[in-house]
Amino acid sequence: MRRLGAPRPRPPETVAAGTVVLAARDVAVSLGGIPILLGVDLEIAAGEVVALVGPNGAGKSTLLGALAGDQPVDAGRVELDGRPLDEWSGTDLALRRAVLPQAVTVSFPFSVRDVVEMGRAPWVAVDGDPDGAAAVDAALAECDVGHLAHRSYPTLSGGERARAALARVLAQASPILLLDEPTAALDLHHQELVLGLARRRTDEGAAVVVVLHDLALAAAHADRIAVLSAGRIVAAGPPAAVLRDDLLSDVYHHRIEVIAHPRTGVPMVMPRR
Ligand code: ADP
Ligand code: MG
Repeated sequence: MRRLGAPRPRPPETVAAGTVVLAARDVAVSLGGIPILLGVDLEIAAGEVVALVGPNGAGKSTLLGALAGDQPVDAGRVELDGRPLDEWSGTDLALRRAVLPQAVTVSFPFSVRDVVEMGRAPWVAVDGDPDGAAAVDAALAECDVGHLAHRSYPTLSGGERARAALARVLAQASPILLLDEPTAALDLHHQELVLGLARRRTDEGAAVVVVLHDLALAAAHADRIAVLSAGRIVAAGPPAAVLRDDLLSDVYHHRIEVIAHPRTGVPMVMPRR
């Protein structure tokens, strides 16, 4: 609901590829008195897919939450289009960034279509959302859940739920996508489908930050990979520069081998067995 006298929410403007749209600047977060993020700097530009990787507990979800403005920061700041997040109204923020949390809980028996329609809420505030139904149909089809549109969300399988939750995020049609392990529950075909549609969005000018555990998937689909370890970014750059045996073995506390794919040259990452 818009406060009386508050400025009307504005749809996001298109920016040139390469323009920094989201930035964490020296961000620190503590939870329960424990430092979780320590001085994180990360810039994300329009047109790029940035994969955020690192061991369990490294702080990936916390960082994604901070970038989204859902997790308050104790020090430093997060800027969207050069302005601190707390200067944006809730609706203006929702028009600019969409968030797929690691766990999506919907216990009420909403249909899949209802869940995806929730992604359109910010647009209703702008113009009553005449494009809503078409955006919902497109997102359902993109995530291969069109055939499940009338099913009750809580009855879906884990992978179907993950795709329906992603469809809600895509229906929001925001230029920044923050996706926390969107592929964790998916089969191989749907993993490729999800990263393919992330790429389609960046080709159209969006910026995507995606938390991934599968380093081969990150290598194949990300423009840049940021490696988070114990609350710090220890490496960030193009996949071939970041995915190195020594660095990964250190970060994951496990001997890791990186081999170039014989046909594509894309780094393949595997534990040394
Ligand atoms: P990741 O997504 O990289 O696996 P998270 O960002 O979810 O890691 O969590 C980072 C660390 O913060 C973990 O060790 C987790 O246990 C801890 N943590 C998360 N929430 C809290 C909390 N409310 N209180 C204390 N520690 C927390
Ligand atoms: Mg996480």
